[in-house]
Amino acid sequence: MFKTIEEHVRQQVAPAALRAEFRQHEFDTSRRFCQLIFCVSIAIWLVFDLIVSYLGGQGFTWLSGLFVMLMCSLTVVLGFTRKSHHFDVLNLLFITVITLAMRLVIEGLPIALRPLWLVLGTSTVLYSVSVLPVRRWSFFCAMAITWTVLSPFYDTNIDLEDLEAAMLISYALFLSGLVIYSYLRIRQAKLHNFYMSKVLLDQAYVDVLTEIPNRRSFMAKAERQLQAAPPGQYLAMIDIDNFKKINDRYGHDVGDEVLKRVAQHIKASIVGHEFARLGGEEFVVFFQGLDQPTAEQQVAALCRRVREDRGAHPVTISIGLARVDPADTLTRALVKADQALYEAKHNGKDRFVLWTAQQSEATHPQAGES
Ligand code: GH3
Ligand code: MG
Ligand code: MG
Repeated sequence: MFKTIEEHVRQQVAPAALRAEFRQHEFDTSRRFCQLIFCVSIAIWLVFDLIVSYLGGQGFTWLSGLFVMLMCSLTVVLGFTRKSHHFDVLNLLFITVITLAMRLVIEGLPIALRPLWLVLGTSTVLYSVSVLPVRRWSFFCAMAITWTVLSPFYDTNIDLEDLEAAMLISYALFLSGLVIYSYLRIRQAKLHNFYMSKVLLDQAYVDVLTEIPNRRSFMAKAERQLQAAPPGQYLAMIDIDNFKKINDRYGHDVGDEVLKRVAQHIKASIVGHEFARLGGEEFVVFFQGLDQPTAEQQVAALCRRVREDRGAHPVTISIGLARVDPADTLTRALVKADQALYEAKHNGKDRFVLWTAQQSEATHPQAGES
């Protein structure tokens, strides 16, 4: 099954919205890692700067102070950055500052040593950028900035016609190719995994027929809302009236169409609350933060909406509404709503009934009664 879905995902082009969601998700999950990379980069740069300043005799100039200040400020800004596309720009600013700062340190070395350290610096920066959650344009800009600022041909003793120049250019091409390849492959693999989990989650939590959340999704979300336990929680159990007749008279396909239509009515009229298809022709809604009259208005409006839909095969629905008490578990609340639904059916269908303690007795007749 996994292979079948994987095959399906591979053949699809991830939609733009999903790519955007992926980028944001990737940034959200690796923001701390990005901060760590920024901090470690500053620390390593500072160690080299101090070595060159004091052992190399360059001296700790105001420029070093300025670079430290700028890099630290960008790291602080990263702490407040929430959008992935802002990070694309912020990272470019950081790369510009740190490569200039690296250039400053390397200028303090004897000229013969500079090409080696410039290439070492470039490799380190490029490797770090390749693991950050940045978009392609930002990655390629970062690469261009790094090679430009840390060019081993600027302010060094290498002549373009030298053997060393040929070796450096070959290494630059090899390094760039490797970094680009691994960046693109890793991003592709991460996007693929994200797409896969989305598809699998949808299949696990969305009802295939009606395309609204399924029982599993509802139980998880409603359970979480129940834990929060603010006042004004109501549970509504919805059941299509005489649905079996629709199936028997017009066939299962028409029955399915009716199920989809009712699901769409629920989706359109219940805004801001959890709802789901529990199974068969039963649906459920968890109202959060409503007083009783408003919850009643909502379910009455839903009954009316379905009743007034004079489509090809009109139906009505019955609803059992139960207030969720602080001591109630989700299962207990579902039982209450089901008892109220039983009452609604018993009273003639196409209506809603609010749960009362008496219904508990009525739906659990004593043994021997029929
Ligand atoms: P009541 O008004 O008392 O609810 O009567 P009813 O006929 O709606 O209730 P009953 O529980 O007897 O029938 C439910 C029917 O729903 C039986 C089953 O065949 C049908 N059903 C359950 N799931 C599906 C489905 O996915 N598609 C279709 N077409 N029918 C379904
Ligand atoms: Mg039923
Ligand atoms: Mg029914």
